[in-house]
Amino acid sequence: MLRVPPRGECEILRAQDIVVADGVIEDVRPTGGPFGAGFAAEVIDGRGLLAVPGLVNAHTHSPMVLMRGAAEDVTVEGWFNDRVWPMESNLTPADVRIGARLACAEMIRSGVTTFADHYFFPGQIAEAVTETGLRADIAPTYFSSRGTEALEDTVRFAEAWHGAADGRVTVSLGPHAPYTVDDGDLRTLAGHARRLGLRMHIHAAEHLEQTRSSLDRRGITPIRVLHETGVLEAGALIAHGCGIVEDDLPLLAEYAGTTAVACCPKVYLKHALSPLTPVRDLLGAGVTVAVGTDGAAGHNTLDVWEALRLVALTQKQAVRDATWMTVSDTLRLAVRGGARALGLQNSIGALEPGMRADIVLTDLSGPHCRPLHDPRAALVYSARASDVRTVVVDGRILMRDGLLLTVDEPALLAEADARVARILDTSHGRAVQHYDP
Ligand SMILES: [Zn+2]
Repeated sequence: MLRVPPRGECEILRAQDIVVADGVIEDVRPTGGPFGAGFAAEVIDGRGLLAVPGLVNAHTHSPMVLMRGAAEDVTVEGWFNDRVWPMESNLTPADVRIGARLACAEMIRSGVTTFADHYFFPGQIAEAVTETGLRADIAPTYFSSRGTEALEDTVRFAEAWHGAADGRVTVSLGPHAPYTVDDGDLRTLAGHARRLGLRMHIHAAEHLEQTRSSLDRRGITPIRVLHETGVLEAGALIAHGCGIVEDDLPLLAEYAGTTAVACCPKVYLKHALSPLTPVRDLLGAGVTVAVGTDGAAGHNTLDVWEALRLVALTQKQAVRDATWMTVSDTLRLAVRGGARALGLQNSIGALEPGMRADIVLTDLSGPHCRPLHDPRAALVYSARASDVRTVVVDGRILMRDGLLLTVDEPALLAEADARVARILDTSHGRAVQHYDP
């Protein structure tokens, strides 16, 4: 199994039994020991497989799988204004329900056991998570253009769902971004978050142009907006942060214990953005960094293996240092970093006694991983989502030897395919919002 310590090198421990009871890892010990009183109810034979902590997708919009590949070769403005926000105005609760399920199926298949979601019709997503057995933190997307009633709806969703599905569903409050949500609403939502003990999940300083535009229009950076409106104080998961500048670092450092930034490099590369999330500076300031895919309308997959590989590659390139963002550090961001980003560091992110049993068995025996000199390097640079064989979340088996147990995959794919023509039709000229940061 893969041991991911809080710092230092990850280790491969051979021939281990992971003992699970009531959804919790009770013990990790050399194979062959006695099974306590009586026998284990169920034994998963992991011989030849490597157990790794479930991956965390720290920023996504799961139902956007329905728009996979439907917004290519466009600028950021074109992506929002010509493609995605018009398509999103077509979405019904039933679409979101199917999209979230399809996303859950894809994530289970790729060893993602927890995801931080941010979308409309959050109740549909919460039901998909409940039924498929995954773990998720769901932030209901809010724009100020939607008005007070919509803001109150997001708070009601949080009150209804936080801690549901035996604790597998948690809720964060989800103002979309400082350029789509006004300061008054940010303050109100941050107040609700503090009152309810919730975190905030928000896009901010997505790229440098947004930071420049914020400085031009109002004289402060997007991160300072989060600081002044109490969002950082509430505890924030910030998506992207590629436009975080030096002046922002002391503000983030002030709340480092509860602040995280999700890095989703594939979408920055696709949109030809530079610079990337300043991971080295953020880690230096004590801020948590985690790995996300963003929605599949930009990332095309919800594959965190792909995302973590791109984090390692782009970060080495960004700071011109091949010895930095090591294999161990990259794996740590994807599991422990993700857990921390969602405020779940005491329950997931490592295969250790006392942690929830979110376990992924990977098969590194394929030719693309062989000879297997270092399984840790294989996980970061060679492994594929299809190498994931068995997935356990909260002690429940969601995929066994490549077979999904909680999703009727053929029926789901047919339902998703049947919806796309209507969702992709933007001839009506409507949009959920206009992008002008
Ligand atoms: Zn996003």
